[in-house]
Amino acid sequence: MRAAVVFRRHASGALAAPAACRRGFATGSKLQASYGFIGLGRMGYPMAKNLRTKIPESDTMIIHDVNEASTAKFAKEVGNVTIAKNVREVAEKSTTIITVLPEPSHVQSVFGQVLQPPTLLTEAPNHHKRLFIDCSTIDPKTSSEVAEAAHASGQGRFIDAPMSGGVVGAAAGKLTFMIGASDSVLERATEVLMMMGKRVIHLGPQGSGLKGKLANNYLLALNNVATCEAMNMGVKWGLDPHKLADMINTATGKCWPSEVNNPVPGVVEGSPASKGYEGGFGTALMLKDLKLALKAGQEAGIEPQLGSYAKDIYAAVEKDESCKGKDFSVVYRFIGGKE
Ligand code: NAD
Repeated sequence: MRAAVVFRRHASGALAAPAACRRGFATGSKLQASYGFIGLGRMGYPMAKNLRTKIPESDTMIIHDVNEASTAKFAKEVGNVTIAKNVREVAEKSTTIITVLPEPSHVQSVFGQVLQPPTLLTEAPNHHKRLFIDCSTIDPKTSSEVAEAAHASGQGRFIDAPMSGGVVGAAAGKLTFMIGASDSVLERATEVLMMMGKRVIHLGPQGSGLKGKLANNYLLALNNVATCEAMNMGVKWGLDPHKLADMINTATGKCWPSEVNNPVPGVVEGSPASKGYEGGFGTALMLKDLKLALKAGQEAGIEPQLGSYAKDIYAAVEKDESCKGKDFSVVYRFIGGKE
């Protein structure tokens, strides 16, 4: 057993292990632990790198990605890992398995292979219960179906832990994880996630992390469109964009797109807008999250009005040659904003 770690719960629901305890976890464990990582893409690769760097050398890590170039690069650059032939092998040889996959269909497919045949030992290596931590942004329904399959077959616990912070946060180990998990696995999941992030917010039982993430990103999608439209209006009326942004950011219109990710080039130094809308959070990912939020809303009997308009806008942005693939603040360019 690992030494008990005392977690502080902030008013927001965020959990944080004291730094000294986290260090103790990384270096002071007696039993070897085994980690599996599936999906080493833009987010997964730097997350897995942080994890491998922070766990003791003697702990094992086994990785898999359908893109063999990615796992080969990881083995060469980071080292001290085994590359699995398939996802089932990852689950067989590890106790804590992290998945970072693009879409619901990938999560379904991976767990279809992981859980079938239902013969994974209940007690994974080193007699720890197997824990699946899915960090993919998918819909809560699919996530709960996969969790149910894992729980019903007795092959492990499954929690959802979608994240925010983007590729930069993943590389810096400063992600925020929003988790849906039973209290019984909370401490263990938090210990693992804090090696890849700076904050873990427990929103409730399995599925809750995704619900929180999608509600937040729904709001973000709308705030961004509204900020682009408001800035466009002001600039076209002849206002100075810097003065307008400064005013909004001390007034009631203030939001993350107006303050941190302002869509007018030059208003926020270093922002994607100031770099030709490169980097940042791509319109395709914004569209994906918005669609997931709308679908999950419909499943709960909700017909969000503004989200449908915003979805059409992001879909059109993705089809526009001068906007496609860029940061989502490029909506400002799409609507004809002065650059
Ligand atoms: P990505 O496409 O860069 O990486 C996904 C990886 O999964 C790829 O390497 C792919 O080869 C691998 N993969 C796909 N199917 C697989 C399978 N069957 N078996 C093994 N590997 C498989 O995506 P990403 O940007 O890393 O995003 C991953 C998840 O994180 C998504 O759900 C995304 O919405 C979410 N997310 C992304 C960001 C971001 O800024 N990129 C931020 C927050 C959340």
